[in-house]
Amino acid sequence: MKTTGMLKIAILIFSMTVLLSMSGCNEPTTVSGLYFDTLITITAYDNTNPQVLESCLNMCAEYELIFSKTNPASELYRINSRDDSINISKDSTVFTAVISNDLYELLDCSLQLSQETDNAFNPALGQVIDLWDYKSTSCIVPDSTSVMKALAHSNPDSIILNPDTHTLTITDPLLTIDLGGIAKGYVADRLKEMLIQNGTIEAVIRLAGNIYCIGDKYGQSYKVGIQKPFSTRGETLSSVNVSDTSVVTSGIYERYFEVNNTIYHHIIDSHTGYPSQSDLISVTIICDESVVADALSTAVLIMGKEKGIDYIDSLDNVSAVLVDSSQNVINVGF
Ligand code: ADP
Ligand code: MG
Repeated sequence: MKTTGMLKIAILIFSMTVLLSMSGCNEPTTVSGLYFDTLITITAYDNTNPQVLESCLNMCAEYELIFSKTNPASELYRINSRDDSINISKDSTVFTAVISNDLYELLDCSLQLSQETDNAFNPALGQVIDLWDYKSTSCIVPDSTSVMKALAHSNPDSIILNPDTHTLTITDPLLTIDLGGIAKGYVADRLKEMLIQNGTIEAVIRLAGNIYCIGDKYGQSYKVGIQKPFSTRGETLSSVNVSDTSVVTSGIYERYFEVNNTIYHHIIDSHTGYPSQSDLISVTIICDESVVADALSTAVLIMGKEKGIDYIDSLDNVSAVLVDSSQNVINVGF
């Protein structure tokens, strides 16, 4: 009985291998690297030239030199530290710099999404975000005076873009910009564009919780799992079947520390300056533009279930999988 079972499995594996080779399926090709503090992996299921995949990693390195908030060589770092050598403002209280196309485009998109989400997504939260240190083992909850002070310098209206001069002006001397909730989405979109221009038809780009699925996987839609919050990575609560789209998840379980049974996580409510206290613990957004999916996954998590569902329903071509605090899965807009 046991031998027959094993024989059946062997025949099955053999037949599948024959079928795969007859169907001309390629072995997947993968490249990976550490950028933006996360593991980035790109896997092609077609015969994309490995050099094209490698150039994706070079692009990640280039984008890190624009959007990183912590690398002193980056464009954003120089802006946040008000580098005199790029400041063209005559007024000492105002900072103005000519900025790169990528930074301009991402800031423009960030400010638009900030407005559309009633500041739930807020790129001006740099000062507040810096108060919360999830990497340290000391787990320090910042005092409320510091949070209030930082919050007073987090108004996105103080960030002004001028399309004629291609400049960024920051009218609040203490405001800093944080693009951690949107930059990976922007990069995923650029990598996708580059791969498609080079003839890729089946590939998946993963930047931590940001996924872009190009085409299908061997002719079938991709099955993307929805991570079970606070469980072993890879343990899922549900899944979505998608082709040619981006799937982005924000979850409070990704980065947090715990003090007196309270979880302090990395998604900050820009109305309070504290980690959002909504009834959602994870939000996955599915839409064509990864940059939008990234900002919206952060914003909807902060909005909470009721407001979040209404907001997703009001948008065209956007669907979502929400996980609430009791780990119920709610599909919206499918
Ligand atoms: P992850 O970085 O885990 O992929 P998100 O896309 O949700 O998750 O982004 C969280 C990051 O976004 C934080 O680490 C911080 O840099 C930034 N952030 C936190 N709260 C906000 C907010 N309300 N608006 C915009 N960015 C935020
Ligand atoms: Mg995000």
